[in-house]
Amino acid sequence: MSALKNVLDELRKISYLNGAEALLSWDQETYMPEGAGTARSNQIAYLSTLTHNTMVGGVMKKNLAELVDLETGDIRDESLPEMEQRRVKEIWRDYHHAAALPADFVEEFSKHSSMSQQLWVKARKANDFEMFRPSLEKTLAFKHREIGYLGAMDTPYDTLLDEYEPHMTSAKVTVLFDEIRARLVPLIKDIQAVKERVDNQLLRQNYPVAQQWDFGVDMLKVMGFDLKYGRQDKSAHPFTTSTYPTDVRVTTRLHENDLKSALLSTLHEGGHGLYEQGLPVEEADNPFGQAISLGIHESQSRLWENLVGLNRHFWTFAYPKLKAYFPTQLDGVAVDKFYKAINCVQPSLIRVEADEATYNLHIMVRYEIEKLLINENYPVSKLPELWDDKMEEYLGIRPDKNANGVLQDVHWSFGAIGYFPTYTLGNLYSAMWFNQAQIEIPGLDEKLAAGDLMPLRNWLKEKIHRHGRSKSAAELVKEITGQELSAQPFLDYLEKKYRGIYGL
Ligand code: ZN
Repeated sequence: MSALKNVLDELRKISYLNGAEALLSWDQETYMPEGAGTARSNQIAYLSTLTHNTMVGGVMKKNLAELVDLETGDIRDESLPEMEQRRVKEIWRDYHHAAALPADFVEEFSKHSSMSQQLWVKARKANDFEMFRPSLEKTLAFKHREIGYLGAMDTPYDTLLDEYEPHMTSAKVTVLFDEIRARLVPLIKDIQAVKERVDNQLLRQNYPVAQQWDFGVDMLKVMGFDLKYGRQDKSAHPFTTSTYPTDVRVTTRLHENDLKSALLSTLHEGGHGLYEQGLPVEEADNPFGQAISLGIHESQSRLWENLVGLNRHFWTFAYPKLKAYFPTQLDGVAVDKFYKAINCVQPSLIRVEADEATYNLHIMVRYEIEKLLINENYPVSKLPELWDDKMEEYLGIRPDKNANGVLQDVHWSFGAIGYFPTYTLGNLYSAMWFNQAQIEIPGLDEKLAAGDLMPLRNWLKEKIHRHGRSKSAAELVKEITGQELSAQPFLDYLEKKYRGIYGL
Protein backbone atom coordinates (compact mmCIF):
# COMPACT_ATOMS: atom_id res chain seq x y z
CA MET A 1 0.00 0.00 0.00
CA SER A 2 3.01 2.29 0.19
CA ALA A 3 2.63 3.51 -3.41
CA LEU A 4 -0.93 4.58 -2.61
CA LYS A 5 0.24 6.29 0.56
CA ASN A 6 2.83 8.23 -1.45
CA VAL A 7 0.21 9.24 -4.00
CA LEU A 8 -2.11 10.44 -1.23
CA ASP A 9 0.76 12.45 0.29
CA GLU A 10 1.22 14.25 -3.03
CA LEU A 11 -2.51 14.88 -3.26
CA ARG A 12 -2.47 16.44 0.20
CA LYS A 13 0.07 19.01 -1.00
CA ILE A 14 -2.12 19.72 -4.02
CA SER A 15 -5.15 20.13 -1.78
CA TYR A 16 -3.32 22.73 0.31
CA LEU A 17 -2.24 24.60 -2.82
CA ASN A 18 -5.80 24.47 -4.17
CA GLY A 19 -7.14 25.81 -0.89
CA ALA A 20 -4.74 28.76 -0.98
CA GLU A 21 -5.57 29.44 -4.62
CA ALA A 22 -9.31 29.31 -3.91
CA LEU A 23 -8.88 31.84 -1.13
CA LEU A 24 -6.87 34.21 -3.35
CA SER A 25 -9.53 33.94 -6.06
CA TRP A 26 -12.33 34.51 -3.55
CA ASP A 27 -10.55 37.60 -2.26
CA GLN A 28 -10.10 38.84 -5.82
CA GLU A 29 -13.89 38.80 -6.30
CA THR A 30 -14.78 40.27 -2.90
CA TYR A 31 -12.28 42.48 -1.06
CA MET A 32 -9.15 42.88 -3.17
CA PRO A 33 -8.30 46.51 -3.98
CA GLU A 34 -8.56 47.20 -7.68
CA GLY A 35 -4.87 47.97 -8.10
CA ALA A 36 -3.78 44.52 -6.89
CA GLY A 37 -5.01 42.78 -10.04
CA THR A 38 -1.68 42.11 -11.76
CA ALA A 39 0.10 40.88 -8.64
CA ARG A 40 -2.85 38.66 -7.83
CA SER A 41 -2.98 36.98 -11.24
CA ASN A 42 0.76 36.30 -10.98
CA GLN A 43 0.28 34.75 -7.54
CA ILE A 44 -2.59 32.59 -8.71
CA ALA A 45 -0.78 31.56 -11.89
CA TYR A 46 2.29 30.48 -9.88
CA LEU A 47 0.20 28.40 -7.48
CA SER A 48 -1.49 26.74 -10.51
CA THR A 49 1.93 25.87 -11.89
CA LEU A 50 3.00 24.35 -8.58
CA THR A 51 -0.23 22.34 -8.47
CA HIS A 52 0.23 21.11 -12.02
CA ASN A 53 3.89 20.22 -11.45
CA THR A 54 3.02 18.23 -8.34
CA MET A 55 0.23 16.40 -10.14
CA VAL A 56 2.37 15.30 -13.08
CA GLY A 57 5.69 15.24 -11.17
CA GLY A 58 8.08 12.33 -10.80
CA VAL A 59 6.88 11.18 -7.37
CA MET A 60 3.26 11.04 -8.48
CA LYS A 61 4.10 9.39 -11.78
CA LYS A 62 6.30 6.69 -10.28
CA ASN A 63 3.91 5.74 -7.50
CA LEU A 64 0.72 5.99 -9.53
CA ALA A 65 2.30 3.81 -12.24
CA GLU A 66 2.61 1.00 -9.66
CA LEU A 67 -1.14 1.13 -9.09
CA VAL A 68 -2.51 1.79 -12.54
CA ASP A 69 -1.54 1.73 -16.23
CA LEU A 70 -0.89 5.43 -16.83
CA GLU A 71 -2.03 5.22 -20.46
CA THR A 72 -5.27 3.28 -20.09
CA GLY A 73 -6.22 3.69 -16.44
CA ASP A 74 -6.42 -0.09 -15.93
CA ILE A 75 -5.71 -1.15 -12.36
CA ARG A 76 -2.33 -2.90 -11.98
CA ASP A 77 -2.58 -3.83 -8.32
CA GLU A 78 -5.62 -6.10 -8.23
CA SER A 79 -5.02 -6.81 -4.53
CA LEU A 80 -6.33 -3.37 -3.65
CA PRO A 81 -9.79 -3.44 -2.04
CA GLU A 82 -12.59 -2.38 -4.41
CA MET A 83 -13.08 1.06 -2.90
CA GLU A 84 -9.35 1.76 -3.12
CA GLN A 85 -9.36 0.71 -6.76
CA ARG A 86 -12.13 3.25 -7.33
CA ARG A 87 -10.18 5.92 -5.53
CA VAL A 88 -7.12 5.17 -7.67
CA LYS A 89 -9.24 5.36 -10.84
CA GLU A 90 -10.49 8.81 -9.88
CA ILE A 91 -6.96 9.97 -9.08
CA TRP A 92 -5.82 8.63 -12.45
CA ARG A 93 -8.63 10.54 -14.17
CA ASP A 94 -7.26 13.82 -12.74
CA TYR A 95 -3.67 12.82 -13.45
CA HIS A 96 -4.41 11.80 -17.02
CA HIS A 97 -6.19 15.09 -17.71
CA ALA A 98 -3.31 17.12 -16.29
CA ALA A 99 -0.62 15.08 -18.03
CA ALA A 100 -2.36 15.06 -21.42
CA LEU A 101 -2.15 18.82 -21.86
CA PRO A 102 1.37 20.12 -22.63
CA ALA A 103 2.56 22.86 -20.27
CA ASP A 104 3.08 25.41 -23.07
CA PHE A 105 -0.47 24.78 -24.35
CA VAL A 106 -1.92 25.35 -20.87
CA GLU A 107 0.05 28.55 -20.45
CA GLU A 108 -0.77 29.89 -23.92
CA PHE A 109 -4.45 29.10 -23.53
CA SER A 110 -4.63 30.58 -20.06
CA LYS A 111 -3.13 33.85 -21.35
CA HIS A 112 -5.50 33.87 -24.32
CA SER A 113 -8.60 33.20 -22.21
CA SER A 114 -7.85 35.97 -19.76
CA MET A 115 -7.36 38.44 -22.66
CA SER A 116 -10.42 37.08 -24.41
CA GLN A 117 -12.55 37.54 -21.31
CA GLN A 118 -11.51 41.18 -21.05
CA LEU A 119 -12.24 41.68 -24.73
CA TRP A 120 -15.67 40.10 -24.29
CA VAL A 121 -16.52 42.64 -21.56
CA LYS A 122 -15.68 45.46 -24.00
CA ALA A 123 -17.46 43.88 -26.97
CA ARG A 124 -20.60 43.26 -24.97
CA LYS A 125 -20.61 46.83 -23.71
CA ALA A 126 -20.11 48.13 -27.26
CA ASN A 127 -22.64 45.62 -28.64
CA ASP A 128 -19.99 44.68 -31.20
CA PHE A 129 -19.78 40.98 -32.10
CA GLU A 130 -17.15 41.57 -34.78
CA MET A 131 -14.81 42.93 -32.09
CA PHE A 132 -15.08 39.61 -30.23
CA ARG A 133 -15.25 37.23 -33.23
CA PRO A 134 -11.50 36.69 -33.94
CA SER A 135 -10.89 35.95 -30.27
CA LEU A 136 -13.71 33.39 -30.17
CA GLU A 137 -12.32 31.75 -33.31
CA LYS A 138 -8.97 31.47 -31.59
CA THR A 139 -10.64 30.00 -28.50
CA LEU A 140 -12.28 27.35 -30.69
CA ALA A 141 -8.91 26.53 -32.25
CA PHE A 142 -7.51 26.01 -28.74
CA LYS A 143 -10.47 23.76 -27.92
CA HIS A 144 -9.80 21.63 -30.98
CA ARG A 145 -6.19 21.25 -29.91
CA GLU A 146 -7.37 20.33 -26.43
CA ILE A 147 -9.66 17.64 -27.84
CA GLY A 148 -6.68 16.37 -29.82
CA TYR A 149 -4.58 16.04 -26.65
CA LEU A 150 -7.36 14.47 -24.58
CA GLY A 151 -8.62 12.22 -27.38
CA ALA A 152 -12.01 12.44 -29.10
CA MET A 153 -14.78 10.39 -27.49
CA ASP A 154 -18.08 9.57 -29.30
CA THR A 155 -17.88 13.03 -30.85
CA PRO A 156 -15.31 15.81 -30.33
CA TYR A 157 -17.89 17.71 -28.24
CA ASP A 158 -18.18 14.74 -25.86
CA THR A 159 -14.56 15.23 -24.82
CA LEU A 160 -15.39 18.73 -23.63
CA LEU A 161 -18.67 17.71 -21.96
CA ASP A 162 -16.84 14.94 -20.09
CA GLU A 163 -14.58 17.50 -18.40
CA TYR A 164 -17.55 19.06 -16.61
CA GLU A 165 -19.88 16.06 -16.39
CA PRO A 166 -17.76 12.91 -16.27
CA HIS A 167 -19.20 9.92 -18.17
CA MET A 168 -22.10 11.94 -19.59
CA THR A 169 -22.45 11.74 -23.38
CA SER A 170 -23.97 14.20 -25.82
CA ALA A 171 -26.16 11.36 -27.17
CA LYS A 172 -27.81 11.15 -23.74
CA VAL A 173 -28.04 14.92 -23.31
CA THR A 174 -29.67 15.25 -26.75
CA VAL A 175 -32.38 12.72 -25.81
CA LEU A 176 -33.07 14.71 -22.63
CA PHE A 177 -33.30 18.00 -24.52
CA ASP A 178 -35.60 16.42 -27.12
CA GLU A 179 -37.99 15.53 -24.29
CA ILE A 180 -37.65 18.98 -22.77
CA ARG A 181 -38.30 20.71 -26.09
CA ALA A 182 -41.36 18.56 -26.83
CA ARG A 183 -43.10 19.40 -23.56
CA LEU A 184 -41.70 22.77 -22.50
CA VAL A 185 -42.14 24.77 -25.70
CA PRO A 186 -45.93 24.11 -25.81
CA LEU A 187 -46.27 24.73 -22.04
CA ILE A 188 -44.64 28.13 -22.35
CA LYS A 189 -46.81 29.00 -25.35
CA ASP A 190 -49.90 28.10 -23.29
CA ILE A 191 -48.71 30.29 -20.42
CA GLN A 192 -48.08 33.15 -22.85
CA ALA A 193 -51.61 32.85 -24.18
CA VAL A 194 -53.17 33.38 -20.75
CA LYS A 195 -54.78 36.81 -20.73
CA GLU A 196 -54.65 37.48 -17.00
CA ARG A 197 -50.96 38.15 -16.36
CA VAL A 198 -49.25 37.28 -13.09
CA ASP A 199 -48.22 40.56 -11.52
CA ASN A 200 -44.57 40.60 -10.43
CA GLN A 201 -44.22 44.37 -10.11
CA LEU A 202 -44.51 44.11 -6.35
CA LEU A 203 -41.02 42.55 -6.33
CA ARG A 204 -39.62 45.65 -8.03
CA GLN A 205 -40.34 48.22 -5.36
CA ASN A 206 -37.64 49.73 -3.18
CA TYR A 207 -36.25 47.04 -0.86
CA PRO A 208 -33.32 48.37 1.22
CA VAL A 209 -30.35 46.05 0.76
CA ALA A 210 -29.46 45.83 4.47
CA GLN A 211 -32.76 44.11 5.22
CA GLN A 212 -32.43 41.89 2.14
CA TRP A 213 -29.02 40.83 3.44
CA ASP A 214 -30.39 40.04 6.93
CA PHE A 215 -33.26 38.00 5.55
CA GLY A 216 -30.81 36.07 3.35
CA VAL A 217 -28.58 35.22 6.32
CA ASP A 218 -31.67 34.05 8.27
CA MET A 219 -32.50 31.71 5.38
CA LEU A 220 -28.93 30.38 5.15
CA LYS A 221 -29.13 29.48 8.84
CA VAL A 222 -32.53 27.83 8.43
CA MET A 223 -31.15 25.73 5.54
CA GLY A 224 -28.38 24.52 7.84
CA PHE A 225 -25.48 26.40 6.24
CA ASP A 226 -23.05 26.44 9.16
CA LEU A 227 -21.53 29.88 9.69
CA LYS A 228 -18.91 28.35 11.96
CA TYR A 229 -17.49 26.71 8.82
CA GLY A 230 -18.43 29.27 6.22
CA ARG A 231 -19.41 32.84 5.51
CA GLN A 232 -21.34 35.00 3.09
CA ASP A 233 -20.02 38.14 1.36
CA LYS A 234 -20.99 40.32 -1.57
CA SER A 235 -19.65 40.07 -5.13
CA ALA A 236 -20.63 41.30 -8.59
CA HIS A 237 -21.49 37.75 -9.68
CA PRO A 238 -22.64 35.36 -6.96
CA PHE A 239 -20.51 32.23 -6.55
CA THR A 240 -19.46 29.56 -4.05
CA THR A 241 -15.94 28.45 -3.33
CA SER A 242 -14.36 26.24 -0.73
CA THR A 243 -10.85 26.04 0.64
CA TYR A 244 -11.85 22.93 2.63
CA PRO A 245 -15.18 21.48 3.84
CA THR A 246 -14.57 23.48 7.02
CA ASP A 247 -14.23 26.79 5.14
CA VAL A 248 -16.92 27.40 2.55
CA ARG A 249 -17.53 30.85 1.10
CA VAL A 250 -20.76 31.91 -0.59
CA THR A 251 -21.48 35.31 -2.08
CA THR A 252 -24.59 37.18 -3.11
CA ARG A 253 -25.44 40.43 -4.86
CA LEU A 254 -28.14 42.83 -3.79
CA HIS A 255 -30.30 45.15 -5.90
CA GLU A 256 -32.45 47.75 -4.19
CA ASN A 257 -35.24 47.45 -6.76
CA ASP A 258 -35.24 43.68 -7.17
CA LEU A 259 -36.26 41.49 -4.25
CA LYS A 260 -36.13 38.19 -6.16
CA SER A 261 -32.54 38.37 -7.38
CA ALA A 262 -30.72 38.32 -4.03
CA LEU A 263 -33.29 36.05 -2.43
CA LEU A 264 -32.88 33.29 -5.00
CA SER A 265 -29.14 33.76 -5.44
CA THR A 266 -28.65 33.33 -1.68
CA LEU A 267 -30.66 30.10 -1.67
CA HIS A 268 -28.82 28.95 -4.83
CA GLU A 269 -25.32 29.56 -3.49
CA GLY A 270 -26.45 28.26 -0.10
CA GLY A 271 -27.30 24.98 -1.83
CA HIS A 272 -23.82 24.82 -3.36
CA GLY A 273 -22.41 25.72 0.06
CA LEU A 274 -24.26 22.90 1.83
CA TYR A 275 -22.80 20.40 -0.66
CA GLU A 276 -19.28 21.67 0.04
CA GLN A 277 -19.83 21.60 3.81
CA GLY A 278 -21.35 18.12 3.54
CA LEU A 279 -18.36 16.56 1.77
CA PRO A 280 -16.44 14.15 4.04
CA VAL A 281 -13.71 16.14 5.80
CA GLU A 282 -11.60 13.00 6.39
CA GLU A 283 -11.38 12.56 2.59
CA ALA A 284 -10.94 16.25 1.81
CA ASP A 285 -7.51 15.87 0.22
CA ASN A 286 -8.44 13.24 -2.35
CA PRO A 287 -11.19 12.74 -4.97
CA PHE A 288 -13.52 10.98 -2.50
CA GLY A 289 -13.84 14.34 -0.75
CA GLN A 290 -14.75 16.24 -3.92
CA ALA A 291 -17.98 16.99 -5.74
CA ILE A 292 -18.96 14.46 -8.42
CA SER A 293 -19.65 16.86 -11.26
CA LEU A 294 -20.95 20.32 -12.07
CA GLY A 295 -24.38 18.84 -12.82
CA ILE A 296 -24.62 17.22 -9.38
CA HIS A 297 -23.34 20.44 -7.77
CA GLU A 298 -25.97 22.39 -9.65
CA SER A 299 -28.66 19.92 -8.55
CA GLN A 300 -27.99 21.02 -4.99
CA SER A 301 -28.20 24.75 -5.69
CA ARG A 302 -31.31 24.38 -7.87
CA LEU A 303 -33.07 22.19 -5.35
CA TRP A 304 -32.80 24.91 -2.71
CA GLU A 305 -33.41 27.77 -5.11
CA ASN A 306 -36.38 26.31 -7.00
CA LEU A 307 -37.87 23.22 -5.38
CA VAL A 308 -37.68 24.89 -1.95
CA GLY A 309 -37.32 28.62 -2.66
CA LEU A 310 -40.23 28.75 -5.12
CA ASN A 311 -42.35 26.30 -3.13
CA ARG A 312 -45.74 27.34 -1.74
CA HIS A 313 -45.22 25.36 1.51
CA PHE A 314 -41.87 26.99 2.17
CA TRP A 315 -43.41 30.45 1.87
CA THR A 316 -46.05 29.60 4.50
CA PHE A 317 -43.09 29.70 6.87
CA ALA A 318 -40.85 32.27 5.18
CA TYR A 319 -43.34 34.90 4.08
CA PRO A 320 -44.20 36.26 7.57
CA LYS A 321 -40.45 36.52 8.23
CA LEU A 322 -39.90 38.40 4.97
CA LYS A 323 -42.86 40.65 5.69
CA ALA A 324 -41.39 41.56 9.07
CA TYR A 325 -38.38 43.03 7.20
CA PHE A 326 -40.55 44.81 4.61
CA PRO A 327 -43.85 45.69 6.29
CA THR A 328 -44.59 48.69 4.04
CA GLN A 329 -43.61 47.17 0.72
CA LEU A 330 -45.59 43.98 1.33
CA ASP A 331 -48.49 45.64 3.16
CA GLY A 332 -51.74 44.00 2.10
CA VAL A 333 -49.98 41.46 -0.13
CA ALA A 334 -51.24 37.97 0.72
CA VAL A 335 -48.85 35.02 0.58
CA ASP A 336 -50.57 33.59 -2.49
CA LYS A 337 -50.10 36.78 -4.42
CA PHE A 338 -46.42 36.86 -3.45
CA TYR A 339 -46.05 33.19 -4.39
CA LYS A 340 -47.46 33.85 -7.84
CA ALA A 341 -45.25 36.90 -8.28
CA ILE A 342 -42.01 35.01 -7.60
CA ASN A 343 -43.21 32.26 -9.94
CA CYS A 344 -43.98 34.52 -12.87
CA VAL A 345 -43.08 32.82 -16.19
CA GLN A 346 -42.10 35.16 -18.98
CA PRO A 347 -39.80 34.44 -21.94
CA SER A 348 -36.92 36.89 -21.76
CA LEU A 349 -33.65 37.50 -23.55
CA ILE A 350 -31.18 37.11 -20.68
CA ARG A 351 -30.47 33.63 -19.32
CA VAL A 352 -29.38 34.64 -15.83
CA GLU A 353 -32.65 36.49 -15.30
CA ALA A 354 -34.84 33.70 -16.69
CA ASP A 355 -37.48 31.89 -14.61
CA GLU A 356 -37.13 28.18 -13.82
CA ALA A 357 -39.37 27.11 -16.74
CA THR A 358 -37.90 29.11 -19.63
CA TYR A 359 -34.35 28.78 -18.29
CA ASN A 360 -33.77 25.38 -19.86
CA LEU A 361 -34.67 26.62 -23.32
CA HIS A 362 -31.88 29.19 -23.00
CA ILE A 363 -29.53 26.29 -22.23
CA MET A 364 -30.84 24.28 -25.16
CA VAL A 365 -30.01 27.15 -27.54
CA ARG A 366 -26.44 27.20 -26.25
CA TYR A 367 -26.07 23.41 -26.30
CA GLU A 368 -27.16 23.15 -29.92
CA ILE A 369 -24.84 25.97 -30.96
CA GLU A 370 -21.86 24.52 -29.08
CA LYS A 371 -22.25 21.17 -30.83
CA LEU A 372 -22.35 22.89 -34.22
CA LEU A 373 -19.24 24.92 -33.38
CA ILE A 374 -17.21 21.95 -32.18
CA ASN A 375 -18.49 19.02 -34.27
CA GLU A 376 -19.38 20.80 -37.52
CA ASN A 377 -16.97 23.77 -37.52
CA TYR A 378 -19.93 26.10 -37.90
CA PRO A 379 -18.68 29.55 -39.01
CA VAL A 380 -18.39 31.93 -36.07
CA SER A 381 -19.36 34.86 -38.30
CA LYS A 382 -22.87 33.38 -38.62
CA LEU A 383 -23.37 32.94 -34.86
CA PRO A 384 -25.45 36.06 -34.13
CA GLU A 385 -28.07 35.09 -36.69
CA LEU A 386 -28.13 31.46 -35.60
CA TRP A 387 -28.57 32.55 -31.99
CA ASP A 388 -31.43 34.88 -32.78
CA ASP A 389 -33.20 32.27 -34.94
CA LYS A 390 -33.05 29.68 -32.18
CA MET A 391 -34.32 32.15 -29.58
CA GLU A 392 -37.24 32.95 -31.81
CA GLU A 393 -37.96 29.31 -32.49
CA TYR A 394 -37.91 28.13 -28.86
CA LEU A 395 -38.81 31.20 -26.80
CA GLY A 396 -40.80 33.20 -29.31
CA ILE A 397 -38.66 36.33 -28.92
CA ARG A 398 -35.83 37.75 -30.99
CA PRO A 399 -32.93 39.64 -29.36
CA ASP A 400 -32.92 43.36 -30.10
CA LYS A 401 -29.12 43.41 -30.15
CA ASN A 402 -26.12 41.07 -29.84
CA ALA A 403 -25.39 42.31 -26.32
CA ASN A 404 -28.74 40.74 -25.35
CA GLY A 405 -28.11 37.75 -27.59
CA VAL A 406 -24.96 35.88 -28.51
CA LEU A 407 -22.71 38.20 -26.48
CA GLN A 408 -24.50 37.84 -23.15
CA ASP A 409 -22.60 34.97 -21.48
CA VAL A 410 -19.04 35.02 -20.20
CA HIS A 411 -18.51 31.24 -20.61
CA TRP A 412 -17.32 30.98 -24.22
CA SER A 413 -14.95 33.88 -23.74
CA PHE A 414 -12.74 31.84 -21.43
CA GLY A 415 -13.26 28.57 -23.25
CA ALA A 416 -15.91 26.97 -21.03
CA ILE A 417 -17.57 25.06 -23.86
CA GLY A 418 -19.52 21.96 -22.84
CA TYR A 419 -20.35 23.60 -19.51
CA PHE A 420 -23.88 24.89 -20.21
CA PRO A 421 -25.66 21.50 -20.29
CA THR A 422 -24.69 20.94 -16.64
CA TYR A 423 -27.16 23.68 -15.63
CA THR A 424 -30.07 21.78 -17.12
CA LEU A 425 -28.75 18.43 -15.88
CA GLY A 426 -28.78 20.04 -12.42
CA ASN A 427 -32.46 20.90 -12.82
CA LEU A 428 -33.29 17.36 -13.91
CA TYR A 429 -31.38 15.75 -11.03
CA SER A 430 -32.90 18.17 -8.53
CA ALA A 431 -36.47 17.18 -9.40
CA MET A 432 -35.55 13.50 -9.01
CA TRP A 433 -33.96 14.15 -5.60
CA PHE A 434 -36.92 16.16 -4.38
CA ASN A 435 -39.45 13.49 -5.44
CA GLN A 436 -37.44 10.86 -3.61
CA ALA A 437 -37.07 13.07 -0.52
CA GLN A 438 -40.86 13.41 -0.44
CA ILE A 439 -41.17 9.64 -0.37
CA GLU A 440 -38.50 9.13 2.27
CA ILE A 441 -39.12 12.11 4.58
CA PRO A 442 -42.62 11.77 6.01
CA GLY A 443 -44.57 15.04 5.97
CA LEU A 444 -41.90 16.99 4.07
CA ASP A 445 -44.45 19.59 2.88
CA GLU A 446 -45.55 20.24 6.47
CA LYS A 447 -41.95 20.45 7.55
CA LEU A 448 -41.22 23.08 4.89
CA ALA A 449 -44.31 25.00 5.99
CA ALA A 450 -42.99 24.94 9.56
CA GLY A 451 -39.49 26.07 8.57
CA ASP A 452 -38.04 22.71 9.59
CA LEU A 453 -35.54 22.30 6.76
CA MET A 454 -32.96 20.19 8.56
CA PRO A 455 -34.54 16.83 7.65
CA LEU A 456 -34.15 17.74 3.97
CA ARG A 457 -30.61 19.01 4.43
CA ASN A 458 -29.64 15.88 6.37
CA TRP A 459 -31.22 13.66 3.72
CA LEU A 460 -29.15 15.34 1.00
CA LYS A 461 -25.99 15.01 3.08
CA GLU A 462 -26.63 11.33 3.77
CA LYS A 463 -27.64 10.43 0.21
CA ILE A 464 -25.34 12.69 -1.82
CA HIS A 465 -22.82 14.94 -0.09
CA ARG A 466 -20.97 12.47 2.11
CA HIS A 467 -20.11 10.19 -0.83
CA GLY A 468 -17.93 12.70 -2.65
CA ARG A 469 -16.63 11.16 -5.86
CA SER A 470 -16.77 7.60 -4.56
CA LYS A 471 -19.82 7.09 -6.80
CA SER A 472 -20.48 8.30 -10.33
CA ALA A 473 -23.47 10.52 -11.07
CA ALA A 474 -25.24 7.66 -12.85
CA GLU A 475 -24.67 5.29 -9.91
CA LEU A 476 -25.89 7.91 -7.47
CA VAL A 477 -29.15 8.50 -9.36
CA LYS A 478 -29.76 4.77 -9.71
CA GLU A 479 -29.01 4.12 -6.06
CA ILE A 480 -31.15 6.93 -4.69
CA THR A 481 -34.14 6.81 -7.04
CA GLY A 482 -33.94 3.31 -8.54
CA GLN A 483 -34.10 4.94 -11.97
CA GLU A 484 -31.90 6.35 -14.69
CA LEU A 485 -31.59 10.10 -15.16
CA SER A 486 -34.74 11.31 -16.90
CA ALA A 487 -36.34 14.63 -17.82
CA GLN A 488 -39.80 13.38 -16.92
CA PRO A 489 -39.86 14.16 -13.17
CA PHE A 490 -38.72 17.73 -13.85
CA LEU A 491 -41.21 18.26 -16.68
CA ASP A 492 -44.04 16.74 -14.59
CA TYR A 493 -43.13 19.13 -11.77
CA LEU A 494 -43.16 22.18 -14.07
CA GLU A 495 -46.41 21.24 -15.78
CA LYS A 496 -48.28 20.52 -12.56
CA LYS A 497 -47.05 23.67 -10.86
CA TYR A 498 -47.50 26.15 -13.69
CA ARG A 499 -50.78 24.74 -15.00
CA GLY A 500 -51.98 25.31 -11.43
CA ILE A 501 -50.66 28.84 -11.12
CA TYR A 502 -51.93 29.90 -14.56
CA GLY A 503 -55.18 27.93 -14.39
CA LEU A 504 -54.43 25.97 -17.57
ZN1 ZN B 1 -24.87 27.29 -9.52
